[in-house]
Amino acid sequence: MDSSAQTNLLGLPRPELEAFVAQMGSKPFRARQLMNWVYKRGEGSFENMTDLAKDFRAQLLERAVVRTPEIVTMHKSADDTCKWVLRADASQAFEMVFIPEADRGTLCISSQVGCALDCSFCSTAQQGFNRNLTTAEIVGQVWLAKRELAEFEEAKQQPGTLGDRRIVTNVVLMGMGEPLANFRNVVPALRILLDDFGFDLSRRRVTLSTSGLVPQIYKLAEETNVALAVSLHAPNDELRNELVPINRKHPIAELLEACWHYIDEQNGRSVTFEYVMLDGVNDSPAQARELVKLLRGHPAKMNLIPFNPFPGTRYKRSPAPVIQRFRDELIKSGVLATVRRTRGDDIDAACGQLAGRVIDRTTARLGNKVFGVAVQS
Ligand code: SAH
Repeated sequence: MDSSAQTNLLGLPRPELEAFVAQMGSKPFRARQLMNWVYKRGEGSFENMTDLAKDFRAQLLERAVVRTPEIVTMHKSADDTCKWVLRADASQAFEMVFIPEADRGTLCISSQVGCALDCSFCSTAQQGFNRNLTTAEIVGQVWLAKRELAEFEEAKQQPGTLGDRRIVTNVVLMGMGEPLANFRNVVPALRILLDDFGFDLSRRRVTLSTSGLVPQIYKLAEETNVALAVSLHAPNDELRNELVPINRKHPIAELLEACWHYIDEQNGRSVTFEYVMLDGVNDSPAQARELVKLLRGHPAKMNLIPFNPFPGTRYKRSPAPVIQRFRDELIKSGVLATVRRTRGDDIDAACGQLAGRVIDRTTARLGNKVFGVAVQS
C-alpha cells in the first residue's frame, strides 16, 4: 500500500474526520468513536479498534493511517526535562520538550522546521526556515509524547489516579518556528487539542506564543481562544527592531492594540509577554519603567526569561540580581511579573536552544552530543 495515498487521521479536526468517514459511507458518530480510540486510548492500529464494524476497519486500513513524526533521539535532563529530536522527513529535524513540574506537565511543541523571523537571540533563527509542519505533525507531537510518557497506558490501568506530574496537562507552542506564520496548519491542530473528543485540553492550558504577527493575531481571535503569549523583549521600537526584526513591519503600538483586542474577544485572562533577559541590552531599571508605561492598566503579565546561550551568540544572560531588580521594578509599579525557571539546559532543551539542525552524516561526523546520529533514509 502506498502510504502517501492514506489520510493521516491526526491531521483531521472533527468536522473533517466526519466528512472523511461519510465518504466511506459511515455515520458521523463513527468519527467520534474513532477519535475516542485515537486520542483517549492512544490506539493507532485500526485492527485493535474492536467496537468498529469489520468492514469499516478494513476500509480504514486501506485509506487511513495514524502516523506521528519519527523519534531520532531522546535525552533526559538531570531535572527530568525530556527532549526529543523528531524527524520531519529524510533530512530535517525538529524538537519537542516535556517539562514535568510538581503540579503540571508542560509539553513544548514545534510548529515549523526552522524559522524565518531571524530574532537575533534565538538559535532556531540561525538555521533559517525550512518548512511548515503539517497539522498531523503538530498534533502528532502531543500524541507521541503521551505515548512515550506511558500516559495512555497508565490511564487505562488506573483511571483518575495519575498524578499530573508525568502527564501532559499543558501544551505550549513555544518550540521551533513561528506558529502564526503557519496559521493554516496550526489552527486545525489547536481545534484537535481543545476538542472534547480530541485531547480535551482547556483553552487555558494551551498557549500559542508569537513574535508578533499582528494581522494573524486578529485572525486568531476569530478562530480560537487559546492563551496568547507574545515575545516582546524590548520596551521601545528602536531596540525591538534590532532584537525582533518583524517589529519593523508591526511596531509595538500596533502589536499591543492587537493583544488587547485578542483579550477583549476572549473575554478574560491576560496576555503573557515574554521578555528574554539580555545582559546590558534590555535589562536596566529605566527599561523596566518604559515597559510599565506600555503595560500598566492592561491585562498583561510579564514573563522574564533568563537568556539561554548557544554557540556563536553575542549575548550574555543578565545576572540573577539584575533580573530580580527588573522584576521588582515592574511589580512595584503594578505590572505582574514572574521569572521563568530555566529547565533542561544541560541537554540544550531550554527556550531558544532548539536548534534541530539538519541531520546528515556531516553532523554525525562532527560528533555533536545531541544530534550525533546518522539517520537512514
Ligand atoms: N516564534 C514564537 C515561538 C517560539 S520561541 C515566538 O517568538 O514567540 C519561544 C520563546 O523563547 C520566545 O519568547 C522566544 O523569544 C524565546 N527565546 C528564543 N531564544 C531564546 C534564548 N536564547 N533564551 C531564552 N529565550 C529565548
